[in-house]
Amino acid sequence: MRFVITGNPNSGKTTLFNSLTGSNAKVGNWPGVTVDKKEGVYKLKNNDKTSEKITIVDLPGIYSLSPYTPEEVIARQFIMDEKPDLIINIVDSTNLERNLYLTTQLLEMDLPVVVALNMIDLIEQEGSIIDSEILAQKLGVPVVPVSALKSGNVKLLMRKCVEYAKTPRQGSSFLSNTDLAPQYKKALQLVHKHQIKHPVFHAIKLLENDSIELMHDVALSASIQNLKLEYETNKKTFDYEAEIADLRYKFITNEIKPTVVQRFKNSGAVNSEKIDRILTHRIWGLPVFLALMFLIFHIIFSRDFLFLESFGIIQSGLESPGVLLKSYLEDFQELATKQTGLFFENAGAATWAKGAIVDGLLTGVCSVLTFLPQILLLFLSLSLLEDSGYMSRIAFILDRALKRFGLSGKAVIPMLMGFGCSIPAMMGTRTLENLQEKRMTLMLIPFFSCGAKMVIWATIVPTVFKYHADFVIFCIYITGIVVAIISAVLLKKTVFRGIKSDFILELPTYRYPRLKSIAFQLWEKLKGFLTTVTTVIAASTLIIWFLQNFDQNLSLVSTNSDSCILKIFGDTVKWIFVPLGFTETPDSWKLIVAILTGLLAKEAVVSTMGVLYQAQGYGAEDDTYSNEESVTAALVANSVFSPLTAISFIVFNLLVIPCFAAVATARSELQSAKLTCLVIAFWFVTAWIVSFLVYQLGSWLTEINLINLIAALFIIGIILFTIFRHKNRKNKCAGCNKCHNY
Ligand code: GDP
Ligand code: MG
Repeated sequence: MRFVITGNPNSGKTTLFNSLTGSNAKVGNWPGVTVDKKEGVYKLKNNDKTSEKITIVDLPGIYSLSPYTPEEVIARQFIMDEKPDLIINIVDSTNLERNLYLTTQLLEMDLPVVVALNMIDLIEQEGSIIDSEILAQKLGVPVVPVSALKSGNVKLLMRKCVEYAKTPRQGSSFLSNTDLAPQYKKALQLVHKHQIKHPVFHAIKLLENDSIELMHDVALSASIQNLKLEYETNKKTFDYEAEIADLRYKFITNEIKPTVVQRFKNSGAVNSEKIDRILTHRIWGLPVFLALMFLIFHIIFSRDFLFLESFGIIQSGLESPGVLLKSYLEDFQELATKQTGLFFENAGAATWAKGAIVDGLLTGVCSVLTFLPQILLLFLSLSLLEDSGYMSRIAFILDRALKRFGLSGKAVIPMLMGFGCSIPAMMGTRTLENLQEKRMTLMLIPFFSCGAKMVIWATIVPTVFKYHADFVIFCIYITGIVVAIISAVLLKKTVFRGIKSDFILELPTYRYPRLKSIAFQLWEKLKGFLTTVTTVIAASTLIIWFLQNFDQNLSLVSTNSDSCILKIFGDTVKWIFVPLGFTETPDSWKLIVAILTGLLAKEAVVSTMGVLYQAQGYGAEDDTYSNEESVTAALVANSVFSPLTAISFIVFNLLVIPCFAAVATARSELQSAKLTCLVIAFWFVTAWIVSFLVYQLGSWLTEINLINLIAALFIIGIILFTIFRHKNRKNKCAGCNKCHNY
């Protein structure tokens, strides 16, 4: 047997799916988390100790079966074409009106439907009661109150489903008791003549002028149109779609709701409306969001947690939890490298082997590993924001702000997901129905600083901006958002003209974040991070170490000597980065190599810097390994960055091509190698230009570097010329006279 779970976005489909199948699909308190269908297996144990295997399919959330969004098309096609044995319609009982709207449409299908009245725990908390028996009578199908989250009644639900799936069911509609009954009944007769499946559903969709339906059977559509003409009076065209939608809501609010829901006095549940009066306030919304964001960075990065030092109260203030935890890990790293070095020495290992393990592997891996507490704190904050429901409000606030720039807000949700990781964020663009908008959003996602990039900021920023690390990192995130907005405006003026799309953002009710779901998300993150560190990072640091100690003839040279492969390579491509300023430092090839390894994984920027700057040197006369500095300390000791070059380097890494995994995701979402190359070029060029502007404007205060300026203006000129030439060519297309370019 195969059951399909459908329901509104955020109604708990994935939670139920996970609880039934034991999967770990991503759950989030905002719409648009599931964009694809997922399958899993549920085992129902019978009383006689036999068990039955049932395939469960989780579909993306939908509000109706009309083809307005890609999700709705996917869900409708699945139900129609794949003939599941039963539909589990999951209904968020805290939002009955909106959720039952879909139910009235599902009931029109010739399929058994069972309504799972989800989040019943919240209804109880609220002090209300929903009479599921009366609801079942009104709808004509079984209704089971459940709590997907707390696994309440889930087994009972499945028993009911298995039992009910065995009897075939005819579709039904409440329309037969409304003013539209005559038209509906006649349409149904016409459809019956054609002997198609789901006659009730098709009859209603044909009346509604549904675009998919009209294409299906031309003869039938024509006869329904004639039927509608018969009923038209006074030449006033009658909008069936709007009328039927209205009748659905009337049916729910007048006939169902009053009889099934009883409200009692509110018993201390979270009052979303009151909270929203402040958090989504026209004026205060944005400052509150920014303040909250700053607070997060303050907790993670501040070395002056209570602001005592900033106000000159006492010399050494308290460090924030993030910094404190990190310093413990650094102590541990010191000990580990020292002991391993000693161990190798005592064992009489070859000097190069010792170098590779201690200077290479251990240093590289540890320099990233020490950021674990800060990464976990970041993800803890993100999941708290998401689980409580505040993240949707951020999308709402940004949507309001972005409208001024002519941008639509639906893209905001995938972009915000980019703060965690670009990969799921890019997959999230599938919810955007407009292809152009989808492409544009995908291009902008990497500008939202992901968790891996945070490791880079956490390494560099404290070396130059000691006590203001939290504020500077906050600014880096804001820079990413601002660059994304500016790029969007420019892109819409040139490449993606004419994007328009409507946006309905549902604000879920606020909930207390749940320990279980947060712990689970953190655990997933921890696993992901450790996997990256032990695979990509470990391998890349070893490679970097070897390249640093071998010359072109593959013979060992002393560490970082002029003839090592990395230095030769770095120096060859250095000219590209000269206008960006960070090549000013001695041994700047190390930074260039770091940027390049960042393509493997963004954390690798740090591990590479760790290996290259911390190296004591294989072949040093005394081979006592005293490698005990952290990567941050090594950067300070080598005076790698000035404030300005640090910012330029950071901005470049913020905006440049994301890691390979993200590029591969972009490739599969764009479905075109050519487009992917263009997008990669876009990322590189944007990073270069912004970093150039930052550095040049910054250094203007001291001196104007004329040659660099001319060189860079020349390059920017060429780029702009290419963009506009491309645009002009498009304007000249012979055209099908349909698109705006014609
Ligand atoms: P989907 O969009 O329909 O797949 O919904 P999700 O499964 O992602 O769940 C949306 C949100 O509702 C998540 O924050 C869940 O933890 C929460 N949720 C789901 N089921 C229940 C429930 O029975 N009770 C409560 N209190 N929360 C739930
Ligand atoms: Mg889902």
